[in-house]
Amino acid sequence: METEQRQPIPVLQNQVVVFSKNYLPLARINIKRAIVLLVTGQAETLAFSSTQHWEVRSPSIVLQVPDHIRLTGSNPERHWKAPPVNRREVFRRDRHSCQYCGSTKRLTLDHVIPRSKGGTHTWDNVVTACEKCNSAKGDRLLHETSMVLKTKPKSPMHPAIAFAENFWQEQHRAES
Ligand SMILES: [Zn+2]
Repeated sequence: METEQRQPIPVLQNQVVVFSKNYLPLARINIKRAIVLLVTGQAETLAFSSTQHWEVRSPSIVLQVPDHIRLTGSNPERHWKAPPVNRREVFRRDRHSCQYCGSTKRLTLDHVIPRSKGGTHTWDNVVTACEKCNSAKGDRLLHETSMVLKTKPKSPMHPAIAFAENFWQEQHRAES
């Protein structure tokens, strides 16, 4: 991580990355929360070559808090399922823009493979489309038109998986 050039910030405003027992980075948490986990034995220091420690003092204790910790118990089971396929969630995934032309006006839902041709109402077949593109496409399959999808539609990711991907990309960037 690029820490050398950073302005010093008050210790208790630092953030700690918490890993699961299986070394999956889960989230960035406030250092105070991390201290609670460490002091109660729910987490332990996770030492990377890049790990740095912050010294936290209270009247009775001096703690070295690392910037990475690992939970010692198994995670509380995270019940998560993909959100329902509806206007609100699909628009959100597609950042409120037509997946064919990028317009942000008069948005509708489009079935990439039309329902009349067996297309399903699922994350990988439903995209945000403006009214114009939707009616231009009509009841045709994509290859029967000259239209192209900006991205391949897929289900939103589990938040922890999304965090992990992001985390490793950041690490990679910091190292290269
Ligand atoms: Zn459009």
